[in-house]
Amino acid sequence: MWSQIVRRLSTSPLTRVRHPKLRRSPHYATLTDKDISFFERLLPDGRAITNPDDCLPYNIDWIKTCQGQSQLILRPKTVDEVQAILRYCYERQLAVCPQSGNTSLAGGSVPVFDEIVLSLRSLNSIGDFDENSGVLIADAGCILETLNNHVLQFGHTMPLDLGAKGSCLIGGNVATNAGGIRVVRFGSLRSAVLGLEIVLADGSILDCLTSLRKDNTGIDLKQPFIGSEGILGIITRVALVCPSAMSGVGLGFFSSSSFENILSTMRLARKICGETLSAIEFLDESTYNLSLKNLQKINNPIESNKFYILVETMSSTDEQAKTTLEKLANAALEKEFITDGTLAQDLTQYKDLWSIRERVPEALVSDGYVFKYDFSLPPSRMYKLVEETQKRMKQFSNVRNVTGFGHLGDQNLHLNITVKNGYSDEIKHALEPWLYEWVAKERGSISAEHGLGLHKSKYLQLNKGKQSLELMKQMKNMFDPKCILNPYKVIPYQID
Ligand SMILES: Cc1cc2nc3c(=O)[nH]c(=O)nc-3n(C[C@H](O)[C@H](O)[C@H](O)COP(=O)(O)OP(=O)(O)OC[C@H]3O[C@@H](n4cnc5c(N)ncnc54)[C@H](O)[C@@H]3O)c2cc1C
Repeated sequence: MWSQIVRRLSTSPLTRVRHPKLRRSPHYATLTDKDISFFERLLPDGRAITNPDDCLPYNIDWIKTCQGQSQLILRPKTVDEVQAILRYCYERQLAVCPQSGNTSLAGGSVPVFDEIVLSLRSLNSIGDFDENSGVLIADAGCILETLNNHVLQFGHTMPLDLGAKGSCLIGGNVATNAGGIRVVRFGSLRSAVLGLEIVLADGSILDCLTSLRKDNTGIDLKQPFIGSEGILGIITRVALVCPSAMSGVGLGFFSSSSFENILSTMRLARKICGETLSAIEFLDESTYNLSLKNLQKINNPIESNKFYILVETMSSTDEQAKTTLEKLANAALEKEFITDGTLAQDLTQYKDLWSIRERVPEALVSDGYVFKYDFSLPPSRMYKLVEETQKRMKQFSNVRNVTGFGHLGDQNLHLNITVKNGYSDEIKHALEPWLYEWVAKERGSISAEHGLGLHKSKYLQLNKGKQSLELMKQMKNMFDPKCILNPYKVIPYQID
């Protein structure tokens, strides 16, 4: 019965409209009743999910641009179970889509066709926290926010923070080398990952789970897995160094008349706030207006203008964190870089101001179908791209908004185009490959932090030369010779 159902599958609804040429590779086996029975025995208590209604949320991505047709979701609780699943899939040549919190914005976390979803949500024990070194060991399925609350008890904080913190899982964060709002302060997640335990495609374990800050013994084998988006192996456990939590925090939200002035404010912030700086984010007028319009409990805290910048400081004393921000606000006002602003006076205001920025993805989704892009660009070129896209989109009456915002402190622009009445092929073709080529010409990155997933894999060669691409394919072949892990994603066509 299963094989008949699966054979009828073509590309799935949302995925098909955006990627009409994708075809299921005949290289993969189709699921049979015997396979289902094996997994039901391996994962009792309903952890092998086959009911179509229950499978649906695992098949659709957060931003609703992809929909897979997986008929089987597996939720292992132990690393042994992950191993047994992969051993079986490897033997049978069944394709697998690893999934954590399913908050990917690149179409990476849901199956393209009938791949089995390997959900890591139930692998969620928090291990030891070493107060001497600040190193936390945790299962890959722990929610980022839960881990943050855990280490806060010891006076530490997680080395990353992002809007999806209540849903994303640490294994998914490592698999995407997630960025977020604190890269200015703590660097990229890669620098905080000390060790990983990985289950390889054939079910064997690669144990790189050390907790050492320094370890120069041979090649650091965990590195290729960080940011590899599930195509090389399944991350099952992580060791992360967690910085000390700062008791002093300041947050300023300022409006400005031009992007030039936003950049001047950023330069001033680096000078005045120095080592206390922990985040620098920006929003343009249309992003800000969308948040005000589409989100509940968001009020305009300052006089409106064309651009907005958030500057956060952290220090061991509240006084220092707040004083540097006040100095910044006064200097920026005096130089007329900003026209208005507010400084958070308490935790409630701090949270309210942050939510204007953190809930932007939610506001965008409420505005229509979203074409979402995530670029690294030299700061002086970042907004030029938004303006050029706005011009290019003028011809389309169904385009609602073209917005720019992002992690200004680490040169990361999020460019979004919202469209009424759903996906439009015409708009996609006006945007791609034009946008990717524009960014590549500037020597920027076509994916700053979200990853390539399904949507961007075909443009990888714009950022990486032939030699790099060839080596990536060889690595994929070495770790996953049967190519069962997250097919059709990241590296352009792994299977012919
Ligand atoms: C509101 C919102 C705000 C966001 N803000 C940011 C931001 O500021 N910065 C940023 O970088 N991202 C951001 N994102 C994107 C997303 O949250 C990150 O990419 C996050 O790291 C994904 O984690 P996840 O647990 O949801 O993983 P998933 O989305 O489930 O998976 C992501 C990728 O990793 C693979 N994968 C998942 N788990 C494993 C594993 N254990 N082993 C191997 N491969 C695995 C999946 O196959 C997929 O390709 C945001 C998303 C939303 C919805």
